[in-house]
Amino acid sequence: MEGDEVKLLYDYDFLLEKLYRKVPPKSGIGEYQIPEPQVIRIGEQTVIRNFREISMKLKRDPRLVARFLQKELATAAHYDEESGQLVLNVKVSRKVVSKFLDIFLKQYVKCPTCGSVDTRLERVGRAFVIKCEACGAEQPVKAF
Ligand SMILES: [Zn+2]
Repeated sequence: MEGDEVKLLYDYDFLLEKLYRKVPPKSGIGEYQIPEPQVIRIGEQTVIRNFREISMKLKRDPRLVARFLQKELATAAHYDEESGQLVLNVKVSRKVVSKFLDIFLKQYVKCPTCGSVDTRLERVGRAFVIKCEACGAEQPVKAF
């Protein structure tokens, strides 16, 4: 009897594990995927090698995305136009970089009304406004 219970538990865990493996890992928002950041750490610095590519996918100026990361990570950042790399003066993991890029996508790229990424971010006075090319909505967002 006891043996059967143990086996049952084991099977349940096994099934759960199988189930979780089938669920694709959550990253980005829905269908819109930004490239996985290529992060290398050199001493106390972190280099995002494909930063230009990521910014292009986010449809935003790399300097703006850099400014966002700089603020969120409370550190200094340097964007190198030539190589398209971003150097952060702090040690962060790829996971953390991904997390903040997802936040940026959610808050400063995606239209809150229709979900389109065909948007522009404009500065209006001290605020930012997301203007959607798809549905025409204009949404003020927190400036940084
Ligand atoms: Zn829209």
